[in-house]
Order: sequence, then C-alpha cells, then structure tokens
Amino acid sequence: MSENKATVIQNVRVVDPFCGVDSAGEEIWVQNGLIVEEPDAGADIERVDASGLWLVPRLIDMHVHFREPGQTWKETIESGSQAAAHGGMTAVAVMPNTVPVTDTPELVQWVKERGQSVGLVRVLPIGAVTVGSQGRELADLYRMLKQGAVAFSDDGIPVGSSGMMRAALSYARTLDVPVINHAEDRMLAPGASVHEGRAAHRMGLPGVPEAAEASMVWRDVMLAGLTRGQLHVAHVSAIESLSALVYARDHGYPVTAEAAPHHLILNDDALMEWGYNPVTKVNPPLRPEASRQALLQAVQQGLITVLASDHAPHHADDKARPYIDAPFGISGVETILGVLFTALIQPGLMSPLQGLGLMSAGPDRVLRLGYPGLMPGTPADFTLIDAEREWTVDPMRFYSQGKNTPLAGLRLRGQAVATMMGGRFTMREGEVLHAGISQIS
Ligand SMILES: [Zn+2]
Repeated sequence: MSENKATVIQNVRVVDPFCGVDSAGEEIWVQNGLIVEEPDAGADIERVDASGLWLVPRLIDMHVHFREPGQTWKETIESGSQAAAHGGMTAVAVMPNTVPVTDTPELVQWVKERGQSVGLVRVLPIGAVTVGSQGRELADLYRMLKQGAVAFSDDGIPVGSSGMMRAALSYARTLDVPVINHAEDRMLAPGASVHEGRAAHRMGLPGVPEAAEASMVWRDVMLAGLTRGQLHVAHVSAIESLSALVYARDHGYPVTAEAAPHHLILNDDALMEWGYNPVTKVNPPLRPEASRQALLQAVQQGLITVLASDHAPHHADDKARPYIDAPFGISGVETILGVLFTALIQPGLMSPLQGLGLMSAGPDRVLRLGYPGLMPGTPADFTLIDAEREWTVDPMRFYSQGKNTPLAGLRLRGQAVATMMGGRFTMREGEVLHAGISQIS
C-alpha cells in the first residue's frame, strides 16, 4: 500500500484537445495515478510550479517501430519506451514488423506485457494483417484484438493484394478496428530509394513516383467504400493521395490518415544537403516542396487528423551502407513534438488545441481508445511542454538506440520538459526516470 501522496501542477496552461479546453493559470491534482479534484486530507503534497509551461494530456505516437522481438540491436521495447518518454509521449502504438512478425495473440500479449514491465509509456500493440505479413493468409485478427491489439497493419510493406485488403477491411468492420496500410505499389518502383524527381536524377538514384503511393491510397479508399471497414492511411506524402482523402470525406467513407513529421519539415532538397548519406532514406521518401506544402495544408484543414513519427530506428552499421542498400527509416519519436510546434503551431498554421489534437484526441479517435481528457478519475497521463524553448536536434542525446535522423543539427522551438504516465513522472528535464528507481525512492 502506497503512502498518502499527491502531486499538484500549479500555474500551468492546460491545453486539452479532448475537452477543447485551453486555459492558463490552472491547477491539476494527481493522486493514486489519477487526476483528482482535490487530494485526500493529510496527503503529503509535491508542488510543481509550472509557470510558463503547457500541460497536455495523453500524447500518443501511433506509428513507431520498437524492433522487439528480434532486432534488439536496432531498438528494444525498453529503449524505445525511454525515447518515447523523453519525447513527451505517454502512449505509443507499435508496428508488428518484428522478427518474428507480431501476428499471433501470444506475440501481441508478449509485446503488451513487455511494455507494461518497462512501465514508461503505454505500449499498444498493432497486430499483422496477414500471417507473417506475407500477404497470403489473413492473420487471426479476432484473437489478437482480444489480447489487446489496437489496430492491424503489415506496415513496412503494403497489403499488395486488393482481394486480401478487401477481406481485411471486411473483417475489421465486424471487429470495429482500423486497418492501417502502407500504401505503395511496388511494381512501379522496384529497388527505388528516393522520390523520382530532380534530386534523384542529379544523384543518379532510382526513384519512386508519387503515383506509387497515390494509386494504392485510391484503391484502399475504394475498398473502404465497398466494405465500410475502417481504413487508416499511414504516412501520407503524395498530393494525389490527398485527393483520395477528399473523395473519401465527401462520400462519407470511413477513412482517416496520418502525416509524418519529416514530410512536414523537410523536402527532397535534404538529399542534396546530406549527399549520399542514407540518413535521408525513408519510405515514403522525402518529397518536393509542392508536396510538402500540400501536406501542411491538408493537416491544417483537418483532412489529416494524426501526426505520427514512423519512428524507425536503425543501428549505425545498418545505415552505413551505400544509399541504395541501406534500410529505410528515420528515428523520430524524440523530435516529433518539436516538429509539431516548429512546423505548425509556432508559425500559426494551427492553434495549440488543433495542433496538439494531432497527437492526442486525433489518434485516440482512430484507435478508439476513449481517453476522456483531464477529468477527475482518469489516468494522469500528461506532458509539460515549454512551447518557447529552442533546442538543436542532437541524436547523441537520444534515448533511442537509433541515431538516424536528417533533422540532426536542426533548430526546433518547443520541447517536452516533463512526462507523467499513470501518475508518475517518467521524464523530467530531459532525464528519463525508470519505474524501478522511482518506486524504490
Ligand atoms: Zn510504412
């Protein structure tokens, strides 16, 4: 039995996208892991003066790769959880392209329990759509859902077969759960590493056109209309994918979509800046400026309701290969919040409530998690943010094992200064606090 302890966050600006509240000078009480109206009498009170800071509930990054089981030299659920807490997250949804692929209820349960035992962030497993993500046989979605899977995806690779995607969406409809597809027609770009455009030509690298993504997004939108199964489009990057999202919205199809921070803050000029360093190699690739502008606008207009990092950590040795052989991916869970502020909130493209909604109420709705916001009795999951703090991205300060990011050296404005999950600080002033340590103290 724990002692009678309570924490109060004082003088804070509450930005709660779940409740639509943006209010300064607030006081938030926490006891026994929950938000409370007031503490029990006689409680031992820790006071945190949060003047100048924002308090935002339940930030979730719904697209991360924590590589465990199987590729623990790239990342583990522990190092990934540390990185997420450092980045200000209280929850993450982890992709199933592990080794073996997370395609059974046993593996879903293992990932969930591993996340709980690390205890820094809520680790929500995404199960594979097809057995081994091979695209041939539907995985046991029902039993994975019962074990705690929050969505299904073969991410890393697309569900290539239209028939299989139709079956997955039909089944997902009966389960009321989203299917997340990585849209890419691989027949259009075998062996492509970058966007098919100016930078690719100059560098002599094989490129992939935006049509490879957009044609599959259009296909998936048609299938969402046909089946009424919930489609979530991962990391949208192509202009014509946005047209498909408009079509889906206008026809009332059950379709949602996410953008990745690197597509919002970089364009394919970064390829020339980094030369043949595969730190810029990501799938879908960095696109031209016109696409980046269109994406910013789609987010601003509410066509895209989620910002998710596609955190894809790699060991330096894996990335230290020739550009066309290196793996795709950017380590992003520790920079996503800074990009959200720098690209969308600080320039005034979105209000704090709208912008932070992309990483809280937006993904919560897609995954049907039902977090109600800062109400008495709900789990005390929130992040304290210094919206004005400027910082330079330094991958050597990442908790993630993956230091691979083309944002290295970039100045961002806006940073998480403390993260609380389940009533316990998991990070303060950049330092991750381990469950074991703080439970002892
Ligand atoms: Zn993907």
